[in-house]
Amino acid sequence: MAKPTSDLPASDLMEKITNLAKRRGFVFQSAEIYGGFRSAYDFGPTGVLMLRNVKQAWWRNMVQLRDDIVGLDASILAPPAVWKASGHLESFSDPLVDCKACGLRHREDDLPDLNTCPACGKSGELTDAREFNLMFKTHAGPVAEEGAAVYLRPETAQGMFVNFALVMGAARKKPPFGIAQIGKSFRNEITPGNFIFRTREFEQMEMEYFVPPSQSSQWHSYWCEERLSWYQDLGIPSDLIRLRAHEADELSHYSSQTSDVEFLYPWGWGELEGIANRGDYDLTAHSQHSGHKLEYFDQASGDRYVPHVIEPAAGATRAMLAFLLAAYDEEDVRGETRTVLRLNPHLAPFQAAILPLSRKEALAHCSQEIAKTLRPYLMIDYDETQSIGRRYRRQDELGTPFCVTIDFETLEDKCVTIRERDTMDQQRVPIDTLLENLRNQLAI
Ligand code: ATP
Repeated sequence: MAKPTSDLPASDLMEKITNLAKRRGFVFQSAEIYGGFRSAYDFGPTGVLMLRNVKQAWWRNMVQLRDDIVGLDASILAPPAVWKASGHLESFSDPLVDCKACGLRHREDDLPDLNTCPACGKSGELTDAREFNLMFKTHAGPVAEEGAAVYLRPETAQGMFVNFALVMGAARKKPPFGIAQIGKSFRNEITPGNFIFRTREFEQMEMEYFVPPSQSSQWHSYWCEERLSWYQDLGIPSDLIRLRAHEADELSHYSSQTSDVEFLYPWGWGELEGIANRGDYDLTAHSQHSGHKLEYFDQASGDRYVPHVIEPAAGATRAMLAFLLAAYDEEDVRGETRTVLRLNPHLAPFQAAILPLSRKEALAHCSQEIAKTLRPYLMIDYDETQSIGRRYRRQDELGTPFCVTIDFETLEDKCVTIRERDTMDQQRVPIDTLLENLRNQLAI
């Protein structure tokens, strides 16, 4: 349903999205009344609906529609032993450079020129790079001593590895099978920014797919194609999204093969999701460190092996930004600019809005009754404020696929008007068939 982002200059588009996000209740700067907390955002009444829809679309695709993937919800806090085995304590870091002139810190790999500070412009003031660990550390219990140290997870993946044997046994699965998880992750990013693209607290949607070692390459290709299609099926046009294989010198310490799903953000191509072939790195490391065997034993054939892992790792909040950017459009309607989010109906905060033409008691009553019958099946907004034209514009900015208008004739002919977001076409339909009509058109 979505079409390519309108031909707005890139910087304008980002500003328009952030303004719309605030105005319409999608995303607020965290702690705004205290001056704002730059590295975190709060999802407002419409944003929370959209973010849930993004996660639900992923979960449906990964878990509900498949026989070979099960879910998990692991804890956010984990002891140092987990992060020692995973390699995060030692190497989950970014090279950090300080500017001696202005005091600002930068990620070395973000600097266009290793000699000049991008903030103050001074040359020769940047320090040598030093490694900065991105994990948030805290203490469990009342004593802030080293023995009580815990870390907030910087990715959800380790939960799947440490629970591998328990999940495989409980779910009666054998490779190839996957464990999927959605949840918050935390990274003390040196340079958070670009709205919800890079924050210190964010949400991930990760799946670890355990396969016989000889099949890892073919499953890696399979998941690259699957994941690219998922974004395209939800409305990201093919000229805004691509797969890019990592060069050998870009690969993480655990990966033998990684491809990123990249999105064309207003500032250029950037990562939306990483799909890594992690080999047996994680299960072997956790076996060695914990002393528990993490392997698969096939009783029928006597085969015993440590499965290899293919990991599609996506960001829910980053995906939401990509869906918003791709859906944003402006068009000229009779001399006025109409702003519309051409969101896939499965992602839009509301599937339909109920708009009584007037606040008169009889219309309000009838409209409320209609809303009540639709609510168990669809997310409905109800709006009786302002003129009908302004209410349509508001729903367009929220990406609501259908507006249902109730007018005085409705009381006579028991029909309502459905207005479609993208074409603005209107259709008169009987109240009796409204739900069926909407569900057919929404494919929900
Ligand atoms: P980047 O190179 O952008 O920092 P990464 O390669 O470190 O990302 P991964 O560790 O592969 O990211 O994490 C998987 C996904 O989680 C990313 O593709 C992204 O969608 C999301 N993600 C990672 N870090 C952040 C962050 N700080 N804020 C929002 N989303 C994030």
